[in-house]
Amino acid sequence: MKVAKFGGSSLSSAQQLVKVGNIIQHDPKIRYVVVSAPGKRSEDDYKVTDRLIDLAIAHKNQMDIEPIISDIIGRYRSMAQELKLDFGLIERLEQTLRQYIDTFSNNYPRLLDALKSCGEDFNAQLITEYFNQLGVDARYLSPLEAGILVTDEAANAQLLDESYDLIGKWRNHDQLLVIPGFFGYSKAGNIVTFPRGGSDITGAIITRGVAADIYENFTDLSYIYSAHPKMVENPHPISEITYREMRELAYAGFTIFHDEALEPLYQVNIPVMIKDTNHPEIEGTKIVVQRSDVKEFPIIGISSDEGFTSITLRKYLLNRQLGYTSRLLQIFERQRISIEHVPTGIDNITVVFRTRQLTGPSQLAEILNEIEEKLQPEWMNVEDDLAILVVVGEGMRDGIGIAHKATTALMNENVNILMINQGGSQISLFIGIKIKNQEAAIRSMYEQYFGETK
Ligand code: ASP
Repeated sequence: MKVAKFGGSSLSSAQQLVKVGNIIQHDPKIRYVVVSAPGKRSEDDYKVTDRLIDLAIAHKNQMDIEPIISDIIGRYRSMAQELKLDFGLIERLEQTLRQYIDTFSNNYPRLLDALKSCGEDFNAQLITEYFNQLGVDARYLSPLEAGILVTDEAANAQLLDESYDLIGKWRNHDQLLVIPGFFGYSKAGNIVTFPRGGSDITGAIITRGVAADIYENFTDLSYIYSAHPKMVENPHPISEITYREMRELAYAGFTIFHDEALEPLYQVNIPVMIKDTNHPEIEGTKIVVQRSDVKEFPIIGISSDEGFTSITLRKYLLNRQLGYTSRLLQIFERQRISIEHVPTGIDNITVVFRTRQLTGPSQLAEILNEIEEKLQPEWMNVEDDLAILVVVGEGMRDGIGIAHKATTALMNENVNILMINQGGSQISLFIGIKIKNQEAAIRSMYEQYFGETK
């Protein structure tokens, strides 16, 4: 028994919905369908969720909301028209939208969450009608009925554990259940959304709740690749990747599957298949607890992310000073800066964080002053244009010469390493370099790790 989740690009138009209908009709094992909001139909199109956010902002700023409402409803209307569905549905959807605006007019965070939920909620209702028209016995199931109970913090829903028992009650339902992704309900009865891209999270929660055998996550990519196709030509398609590897790569930009969606499944060991709506016949990438090809591919992927700042300080005999590191980290905590890496040496220590957390250049100056004052380092250095390369693979733990390949690749490209850190998990290696060297570094590292397997 399977749960299938379809992403925004798979549901962006009537043409895409026809493909989804085909997949459902040909695979009777799919018993639950979780849907995203309609995504972009072309490069310069908009996602419905983004337009719903525009709507909330426009309402707050007392601007004209009518053109935005007509854009949003227009997306559903044109799909209904092409699929020859009943227009009564579209009228009901518009009424719901207007009703949310009235109800939450004076409570912006709640209005925003209620409107954001409409993207998936309307899509689930429309798709259910379409499936029924195809002759598939389908039923729309709202997250409230399904039992998706979450915490009450707007835009940052966290699942309450009791949900799994409630969802489990739907395990042997004989109709195909269509559930909107991206939101749940708090005990106070509020609609609360997951972080952006959160329909994957709903899919994972349903999969675990009904104890499905497989979670199929349909997007517009046939595989997860070993490096970003924008940086490396024809990268190696991954057939199996472990949950831990996926998590580490998601950290640095592998966003094809939401990292918060891994946790519910990892705990119960249910595999995830990454599938392509446009090519469902392709097997795709399987996310598993243990993969069988670690010998052949000790490294599974290479990624990078930019926008980091590092502060390095040196003080003689630092290693013998009790509490030095703790005092340093407390400065960052007080400044509300969350830290990504802390590589240390004998007499030095580096703190790496995401630059976007700084409220402005004066906050960096404040941090540096406080470090000067409280820790009196002999020397301090700031790098504010850092990119971090991430090399990930289960084979790193027992493999020899893995770091050597990375450093050789960087030497070949004349790239200076500013920081190097092997993650505590022993399946990842983080290397800090200047942003300008990023692409050359990734290409050269890809050659080292995957060149001979291309
Ligand atoms: N529609 C939501 C978003 O764009 C959630 C999702 O698509 O997964 O973030």
